Amino acid sequence: MIAEGQLDTTLKGPLRLRDVGFKDGLMVLVPPAPGIAFTTRLAGNLSLSAGDPAMAASNRTAVSEALGIPDDWATARQVHGRGVVCAGVAGAQPPEADAIVVREPDRPAAVLVADCVPIALWGPGVAAAVHAGWRGLCAGVIEAAVATAGAAGELSAWIGPCIGPCCFEVGAEVPERFALTHPDAPDCCEGGGQEETLHFDLRRAAAAVLEACGVEVAGDLDVPCTCCDQRFFSHRSDGTLQRQALVTWVGGTP
Ligand SMILES: [Zn+2]
Repeated sequence: MIAEGQLDTTLKGPLRLRDVGFKDGLMVLVPPAPGIAFTTRLAGNLSLSAGDPAMAASNRTAVSEALGIPDDWATARQVHGRGVVCAGVAGAQPPEADAIVVREPDRPAAVLVADCVPIALWGPGVAAAVHAGWRGLCAGVIEAAVATAGAAGELSAWIGPCIGPCCFEVGAEVPERFALTHPDAPDCCEGGGQEETLHFDLRRAAAAVLEACGVEVAGDLDVPCTCCDQRFFSHRSDGTLQRQALVTWVGGTP
């Protein structure tokens, strides 16, 4: 775990810091919506499949205690697909999926990320956590999660920190695939042309897909970039397997 003094914890943009006690250096960002938290490096690695799983489990407990929610998060083995799972049996082996829908107030859903787009969906009596990298986005994970979570007109979404267009340099296959799978979405590429590199804006692409599904996107899209903002784990910046988490639950934050 990184000591607090090693990171610039000054928050910019639409996220606000909710001081949840800094237990063991934990810092949690809570966007202006109920029942959602996004962690930073200060909360430590939360992936059970990177490094020390016992440490990751204890970090999950610390985050949960700070938020006042159960620590038995419904998670999935994320595979960059379009699979959706409704929260399963507590303690069971996580199923393969990239979106987790929960309807029970005592069962938080979480996705683990380090550059991919974390999306929280919520509506009456339902919450969902979605993991959408460019492959999942193109595969239709957002549409699948919305269809499972409920009536689109009743759902709202928040898009969390992910790799920004500043750092997400891509090959032509990314915008091509997105245009093929989402022909009505706007062009989400920056740059291109002769000898210029292409940069893809995953957040804008995710927002366009959500809006096309009839989901209201809450908050500003100008969230921090996980790759160039050192408060977050970033796979692209240093190849880490450590992950932060988007945790969401039914019921909301007091
Ligand atoms: Zn960046």
